[in-house]
Amino acid sequence: METLYPIFYGTSLVTMDVLYRTFRPKMHPEAARRMFNFIEHQGGKFGIGGGWRSAQPVKPGFAPEGRSFHESQPFPSGSYYCAWDTVVVNPGHVHRSPVWSEVPVQGTQLAIDYGCHMNVGVPGGAGAEPWHMQPIELDGWAPWNNGGRPDLRTDYPIVLSAPRDPVPQPPLPPALPPTTEGVLVQFQSRVLVEGQVGPDVKFFQRQMNEIAGQGLLLDGYYGGKTTQAVKNWQGFFGLPVDGQLGPQTQQSIIEISLQKS
Ligand SMILES: [Zn+2]
Repeated sequence: METLYPIFYGTSLVTMDVLYRTFRPKMHPEAARRMFNFIEHQGGKFGIGGGWRSAQPVKPGFAPEGRSFHESQPFPSGSYYCAWDTVVVNPGHVHRSPVWSEVPVQGTQLAIDYGCHMNVGVPGGAGAEPWHMQPIELDGWAPWNNGGRPDLRTDYPIVLSAPRDPVPQPPLPPALPPTTEGVLVQFQSRVLVEGQVGPDVKFFQRQMNEIAGQGLLLDGYYGGKTTQAVKNWQGFFGLPVDGQLGPQTQQSIIEISLQKS
């Protein structure tokens, strides 16, 4: 069976082909080469949570707008995204971010081998993000900018070459019909309803904002406005209008966001 990888909040598993098509087109080619090398070596344990944005709301603890590698940045070879948030597969299909012991920490041999590292904060420190990965040359927006915005090294010698044995994968729900592009996309997320809170709520709020301009506050709280946005979506796409994010509505949002990328 083909190895599947977690995507977004880890509530879905997709083929490597979907991961490529979702994330690679906008990435710095060298960052993408290292990222996918890392992921393929983890045997399906790691995937991409996402994290790209066109604008960063100013929030305490977040990089100001224009100063994040989660936004497209001007390199000598072109404008590209260079940071990504990883996600780890788990049996319950519930969102889990990696912990420090699982990732290439800044300054370690593992980071050197893969040419990418987790460098936001230090293990155990306040605001530390063991899920945030970027190329090893990029230690922060300010030093990179002050250093003349140098390009990534395009011949980074990735040391490891043999993929790790596949990790056991959680049982998948019954196969969904192929999408229009014939790509396997499987979901087993909880049904989301008004009153719930979580990163998965926030994920769908973001998608509905970006695809359908709903203007929701990205607070991860499924309130009345989120319910209305879901009803709008369902009405527009001819789905049963109940204001809940069940499998069918989630599937439709994910598929359209994949087509968009
Ligand atoms: Zn991040």
